[in-house]
Parts: sequence; structure tokens; C-alpha cells
Amino acid sequence: MLSLGDSVTKIPKVGPYYKQKLDKLGVKTVRDLLYHVPTRYLDFSVTADISLARVGETLTVRGTLEFAKSIRTKKGRLMQIAELTDKTGSVNLVWFNQPYITRLIYPNKTYSVAGTVEWFGHKKAIYSPLFEETGVDINTGRILPIYPETKGLTSRWLRGRVAEVLNSLEEINDSLPSNILTQYHLEPLKKALNYIHHPTSNEDIVVAKRRLAFEELLLLHLTSIKRKREWQKIHTRQQIKINTPEIEKFIQSLPYRLTNDQIKVYGEILADMTKNIPANRLLQGDVGSGKTVVAGIAILAAFLNGYQSVVMAPTQILAEQHYQTLTDLFAQYKLRISLITSTTKKIDLGRADLIIGTHSLIHKFTDFDNVALVVIDEQHKFGVEQRTHLLKKTTQGAEVPHILTMTATPIPRTIALTLYGDMDLSVIKESPKGRILPTTWVIPQVKETDALAWVEKTIIQEQIQAFVIAPFIDDSEFPMSAEVASVEEKFPVIQKTLTKIKVAKLHSRLPANQKQQILEDFRHNKIQLLVSTPIVEVGVDIPNANIMLIMSAERFGLASLHQLRGRVGRGEKKSYCILVSSSTSEKTTQRLEAIKTAKSGFELAEMDLKMRGPGEIFGATQAGESELKIASWQDVDLIKQAKTAAENLTNSPQKYHQFLAQLSEKTKN
Ligand code: ADP
Ligand code: MG
Repeated sequence: MLSLGDSVTKIPKVGPYYKQKLDKLGVKTVRDLLYHVPTRYLDFSVTADISLARVGETLTVRGTLEFAKSIRTKKGRLMQIAELTDKTGSVNLVWFNQPYITRLIYPNKTYSVAGTVEWFGHKKAIYSPLFEETGVDINTGRILPIYPETKGLTSRWLRGRVAEVLNSLEEINDSLPSNILTQYHLEPLKKALNYIHHPTSNEDIVVAKRRLAFEELLLLHLTSIKRKREWQKIHTRQQIKINTPEIEKFIQSLPYRLTNDQIKVYGEILADMTKNIPANRLLQGDVGSGKTVVAGIAILAAFLNGYQSVVMAPTQILAEQHYQTLTDLFAQYKLRISLITSTTKKIDLGRADLIIGTHSLIHKFTDFDNVALVVIDEQHKFGVEQRTHLLKKTTQGAEVPHILTMTATPIPRTIALTLYGDMDLSVIKESPKGRILPTTWVIPQVKETDALAWVEKTIIQEQIQAFVIAPFIDDSEFPMSAEVASVEEKFPVIQKTLTKIKVAKLHSRLPANQKQQILEDFRHNKIQLLVSTPIVEVGVDIPNANIMLIMSAERFGLASLHQLRGRVGRGEKKSYCILVSSSTSEKTTQRLEAIKTAKSGFELAEMDLKMRGPGEIFGATQAGESELKIASWQDVDLIKQAKTAAENLTNSPQKYHQFLAQLSEKTKN
């Protein structure tokens, strides 16, 4: 019997190797594994006799393997071909370049095979199918969950372990009180966890998500209430006097004029910093709205008072980018900037006025005596972890610096004010004048090759660089025939056809140092075209990258597409965005066309909500779109309900404390 609090190593077949992989996904306990919820599902629940399987259908068939062999095609490609028969007929199974497949399947054994049926000459075939021995029913014959993955750990593996856990899980204490379950019509936890990992219908997914989202939101509301209470009790030693003439001089020296919103917002932040309660402000602004320079002004204000500042970015790459931007920005000052990398042993606080690193930086500090400002850029949950850490220090007698959290996530104001109600909110609405949105086209899949040729030509002619984005890393999780682009599939093709430029690939399963090197080379134009998953979505600023081509664009939410498009058009040159749609549906094309006219991510998020029906659960990637794990910013009603529930709980102190203790146990880092 497993219980939720057990370490993952208690799960059969999870040894040190997988423990380490799971760690990377933030999964340490059985509970974490069950809360590692699918990002999307593929529906293979339809099963049929082989003779009834029609071309174009996505389904599961069962039968006996006749043979499996590797052959060379006329063009010299290595191909694996197998045949599966049942009493009604036979179907071919086809793979490319996966010779090991023939060692995984054996003639005369029965298999369950899932995928989309296609033509193979005059015969029917399933390309790159999912398969397993009959009777297993974990990877075929059902609605298949697709999980966030990491290098060396696939959804297939996760499905196996999750099934094991669900089978041997002891009775669990529900994390929500029963009166809340009844009042808000929520499923019990165990049922919800079963449903989310093993749905038998669309409806299962909907109710499971609602239950788990409610819990996530309730916890957010409660912690927000708690943090607000705590924050109001603390003080800061670093009350700043604003050196207005010097700040104005700095602003005059910028190569551009600040927008009205930038001016308003820096005013709000500086006003915070003059008070003796530490600032706790969330700065929300669309991609490219110019948040960095606003943070720069606050950093300067601290520096002019003899104080230090800390800037934290989500990745090392972004930390380096901030280092470069801020070094340029402060060229005229004797402001010492120190970049902390993973190899930096000791942070010598005494020698820097500005310390830049990743989000983990905060744990390396022992005292914040001379730090007046902490800037947290693009952090999940808006720096909650960092603030909690700083609050913990407070009880040990330290005092808390001013905190500025920045995000490009379009959160409706009302929601920001409730869910993150402990923070003050500043918004940059207008983007810098003169910035032209990239020229955007929506084109059908058949024109993709032409588009790529155009991309190469334009890269050379205008001496610019390009991103090509595909939604998936490889096709390990879906049949090739599903017509969804993946990096591993497209990269070799693009590399082979676009020979006049240097092409590289990037995705999360590559080792960290390699990823860093590739982005570094891209930044220095040693690479002209980067084929990547949406990993580049947040924050990457490469002014010379002016073309963004997104494959299988229909797989993304509009807000995501907008974020991706925001990666180009950052310099002075003309920029382009090409959305390749593999869908022929009129509705999808319309949805994609919307991005041409809409200006803000915010507008698009709302539009998406209207245009995408709830039926689109299957296949809709929301990657990177939200800071929330399960709930979504668009769940306005659920957010309100969770708020009411949280307030009711806080009215009865005993229940509230009990509940918080229980939940914070769960969310301990
Ligand atoms: P984000 O808000 O996405 O972090 P950045 O701070 O990276 O945006 O700014 C994007 C680009 O816009 C940078 O190259 C920056 O120099 C430039 N920028 C910032 N403010 C202005 C402005 N007022 N006018 C013109 N360009 C600006
Ligand atoms: Mg930024």
C-alpha cells in the first residue's frame, strides 16, 4: 500500500535513475506524481476490427503480429515494417529509422496498437503507432494522457507508474472538508485523481480538472490572505530618498523616450520604496512593453542611496541577458554589476551594487542588510516562493527589502487583485511607440516548404535570424500521421534543404549546457535559424531575430502565439511572423487570423476563451500560457467560488489553521 506522502522511491521500478528524473519535474512524493497532471489527451478509446478501420480514423486495433522487419526504401531511408492481423483482416505498422522496434515486438504475439490509419501504397497502415501487449491497456485503447516530460522520462513511462500508484493507493484523507465538497459540487480527491489520469470520457476530465483547480485556487487565496497579514507586520530598513534630478538625468540619457505607462509605473514603484513597509508590487506588462528599464530606474534609485539590488531571472540565459542590458543601461555610472552563475562559489555581497542571477539566488543570501530591492522577473506564481523565503528570514530578525515582481502573463485585473491580493498591481498597457507588430501571415501546411525557402532567402538578404517553432519534441507520443510538427522530425529536413544558413535545434530534453551554448551561438549570429519547441517563449530577447515561423500553429492558444511572436520585432528591422496551420477547418483559420489585428496578449486570451469551445480539450496545448498548474486564469467563476470558500474558512480560525497546515504540507518546497 502506498500513501500520498511516500517518497517516489517506494513505487515499484523507481530507482535512483528515475528518482533523479522525477526530481527534475518537481516530483518527489507519490502525491507529487499524482498532481503531475496531463497537459493534454489523445483519444484512442475507439476500438475496432481491423477490416472496419477506415483511413483517417484514430483508434485502437488488436491482433497477432505476423512479422516485423527493417528494410531500406528506394530513397535509402531505413524503415521498419510489421503486419498485424485479426480474424477480419490485416494492417501494416510502419516506422522510420527506429531499428530497435523490431527487437521490441515478436511474431505470433498479440498486440494492442493505437494510431491513425493511413494509406501505405494500396494497403492500410498505421505510422509510428503506440503499441503494447494486449491486456495491458495503459498506452492504447483509452483516452491517453500526455504529461510534461523531461529528458529520459516519457509520458509512456509516467502512465505505467501512475497506473501502478492508482492501483495500490491506500484510502486517502481528502484535502478539502466535506462541506466544501458538497457546497461547491466537487468530486472527492481520490476520484478526481483517478479521473484526471485515467478518464473514460471528456466529462471525467472536466470534473476532475474542476475539483483539482478549485483546490489549487483555494490554496492560492488562503496563502494570499496569510501573506498579506504577515507582510503588513513587517518593516524595511531601506527607506529610500529619491534623488529626482539624477533619476531624470538618467531617463534623459536613454536612447528612447519612456512611454506614459512606463513613467506612471516607475513613479508607483519609487513611491513604494520611500515607505517603511517594504514594497510588494506586481508589474504586469505585455512582452516587449519595456519592463526592464522600469526595474532599472528602481535599481538606480537604490544605488543612489548606497544600497544594493538583486535581479532574479527564471533561467541562466535570461540572467545573462539582463546582465548585458543593465550593463549597457548603467554604462555612465560606477555601478558594479556581478553575474552569478552556477559555478560561482561564494557571493561576495560587499563588492557589487547589483547582483544578477537565477531565482535560486535568493537561497544563497545570508543577509539582506544592504539590499534595498529584489526584482523577480517572469517567475511562476509571481515570486511567491521568494517572498515566502524572505518572510521566513524576517522571523529570524532580518528585515525585508522592497520587492518588484514582473510578469508578461495577461491576468485580468480583478483576478490579480484577489488571487494575488497581497501585492500591489502596476500595469503597462501601451507598448513603446514606433514599434510595429510583425507582419503576420496564416498559411496552410502545403505552403510550408515554400515558406521555409522564403525564410532562408530573407535571412540572407536582410541579414537577420529566424525561429521555427514546432509544438512537440518528437513523435514519440502521437502518430506521425496526426500531422503535428515536431522538432526532431523537422530539424533534419530543414537542415538538409536550407543549406546556405546554419541551422540548430533546441528543446527541453537537451542537456542544460548544450541549450545554453546554442542560445549563446544564436545570440552571436553563429546560428541563423533555430528550430525549437516553445521553450523560447518567455523573455528571450534577440534583437536580430526577426522571423518567427510557427508550425502546427493551431495547436497553440492565441495568447501563446502572441508570446511567441513577441520574440521577434525587438530591434529596428522589419519583422515577420508566419503561422502554418495543419488544419483546414474554417474556424481554426479564423481563430489564427485574429492574431493579425489584436494588439495585446490580454485581448487575445479573452478572444481565445470565446472562440475555443470546451470540447477542444483534446489536443489543445496550453504550454507556458499560464502560471497555474491546473486552473486557468479564464476560470473566472471558479476563482470567485474559491475566493468565497477561502473567506469563509478564514472566518473560522480553527478550521483555517488546520487547513492551511495541511495544505502547506502539500506545497512544501
Ligand atoms: P519586456 O517587458 O518584455 O521585458 P524589455 O524590457 O525586454 O521588454 O524591452 C523590450 C525592448 O524594448 C528592449 O530592447 C528595450 O530596449 C526596448 N524599449 C523599452 N522601453 C522602450 C521605449 N519607451 N521606447 C522604445 N523602446 C523601448
Ligand atoms: Mg523581460
